[in-house]
Amino acid sequence: MKHEAVELLSRYLKIDTTNPPGNEDQGVAFFADILEKEGIAYKTYEASAGRGSISAVIPGTGEKGAVILLNHIDVVPARAAEWSVDPFGGKIKDGFIYGRGALDMKGQGILELLAFLEFKRKGLTPRRDLIFLAVADEEAGGINGAQFLLNNHGDEFQADVVINEGGFGFGNVLPDRPLFMIATAEKGVCRVKLTRSGPPGHGSAPHGENALEKLVQGLSRLLEKENPVIVTPLTAEYFKQLASAWGFLKPYLQDGNPETLVEALTQNGMLNNPHMVAMLKNTISLNRMRAGDKVNVIPSGAEAELDIRLLPGTDPDTVIDLIKEHLADDNIKVEIARASGSSESSVDTEDFAGIKEVFREHYPDALTVASLLFGASDSKFFREKGIPCYGVCPMLINLEDLGKIHGIDERISEENMIKGTEVYIDIVRKLCKA
Ligand SMILES: [Zn+2]
Repeated sequence: MKHEAVELLSRYLKIDTTNPPGNEDQGVAFFADILEKEGIAYKTYEASAGRGSISAVIPGTGEKGAVILLNHIDVVPARAAEWSVDPFGGKIKDGFIYGRGALDMKGQGILELLAFLEFKRKGLTPRRDLIFLAVADEEAGGINGAQFLLNNHGDEFQADVVINEGGFGFGNVLPDRPLFMIATAEKGVCRVKLTRSGPPGHGSAPHGENALEKLVQGLSRLLEKENPVIVTPLTAEYFKQLASAWGFLKPYLQDGNPETLVEALTQNGMLNNPHMVAMLKNTISLNRMRAGDKVNVIPSGAEAELDIRLLPGTDPDTVIDLIKEHLADDNIKVEIARASGSSESSVDTEDFAGIKEVFREHYPDALTVASLLFGASDSKFFREKGIPCYGVCPMLINLEDLGKIHGIDERISEENMIKGTEVYIDIVRKLCKA
């Protein structure tokens, strides 16, 4: 007989909630069935057919505003042929549970569920409403999930704090102790479309005004520019904390000068690490281009799409101006196709302190630090409403495992699920003073 957390995750991973299309209603049915057996009322929502979300509340004494335990039901696609196991088989092998979503974020969804059920099972009374909320569509931007819920049922999700994805623990980042990162901020997303037109013609007589060539030249000017390191207050504090374990950061600890930090990171080769760069720079990634239908015809137009991620404090308009300047071609039209701002929550709250304290109780040697999530999550929707959000996941993985998120053979250890349940319960009890 496996631990309940392992058993539940294995079952949950068998439900294919690949987004698109999502089919999150099947995940909703999974949670509804469990909640029903536990005698807990729940409510379901559907933004459109199949795009389900579910919430349940354990009413508290109202001493403080509610705690929301937020998780998303959907997962990104997995190509079965690339995996060594069925990505939707829920296989348990050599101490690991395999499946798309094990790390992002069905594993944490189960930890949140078990922490929530604990209150009912033990008859605990939270000092504030405790809300379990599993949503659709996070992986495609949350339009049919968190955004839909807040726009249409906002009154049900008023809270003082949201616990969400974005945090992780790493066993092999620091030389001598585990590192837990609690995500208190995330980068903004700005999708930019570039369009260039020019006269068509025959490929046998190039006329020098080829739209595709002009766009490629502009892009090459843009991409060869190096984005500067920007040390935000959050990253400044992050590296100060890390300096206690990373000796090469000692000079920075002494003078607190961002230039010293950049120099130390450069010398140590840290700025070759894409994850580190993502924490320290606004980034631009050229991910799509389209032009031409025939190899012997000069196309009359060309398009490119850039995925731009912005640090807290960087204004999208400033970046757009800079992009135009670097493209150095007024005939390239630059449009923002989609933008959502960066977001940040204060670390100066009783809830954040409480979460840190629980990590300290369970992992006395570990360093627990506030960090920046360089991806995007549903936290931004709640932060927009002024609700502090923290990405908290008491799982201890290796840095390489990050590559399995959205990658191949995504998995989480049974040990992490078992210990994670214990820690999660204590976190939620701390937040709810129960
Ligand atoms: Zn996720």
